[in-house]
Amino acid sequence: MASTEEAEAEAGAKAPKKNVSYPLRILYCGECTLPVEYCEYMPNNDKCKAWLEKNLPSEFGKIYLGEKSPEGGDTGETDKKGRQKRGGRGNIKIKKKSEPQGVTIARVQRNKKKYVTRIRGLATYDIDLEQARKFFANRFACGASRTDEDEIVIQGDVTDDIFDVVPEKWPEIDEDNIDDLGDQKR
Ligand SMILES: [Zn+2]
Repeated sequence: MASTEEAEAEAGAKAPKKNVSYPLRILYCGECTLPVEYCEYMPNNDKCKAWLEKNLPSEFGKIYLGEKSPEGGDTGETDKKGRQKRGGRGNIKIKKKSEPQGVTIARVQRNKKKYVTRIRGLATYDIDLEQARKFFANRFACGASRTDEDEIVIQGDVTDDIFDVVPEKWPEIDEDNIDDLGDQKR
């Protein structure tokens, strides 16, 4: 049962007393140097397996072949050594697809073109430009800034809405008083 590697591992670890059945015996893998229970989580598990099968066949049987430990039943519970549960691999379950996975949303850019709406002429109706700017920002829930003496720029293309919104807000401006200049460079 005690191979050379095992004896060395024990001496280096907890210096077990001789002639005593030592329940805290930890076996280290000669390939990855971790306790052999963890080998199965290593990326080069094949090498670990080969090493273990060759050097510690009884451990190999317990860990990989599901053989019962001679020290106790394979209850699947954490044993006296505080090891991970036997058959740990079986406990790592892949989440079922039917379980709720949470909701994600994303904004997807469809078009690189971005528009702003420029409004001029409100001041000619004695409308306070700052008040108008705030109104547009609230109404369209977007940025609006005063860019000139009688010019407001609203982020986004709201030109169609302007025909409804402006006469509604300022009855002195009729829909016919609004001229859509179309696409402008600035
Ligand atoms: Zn290993």
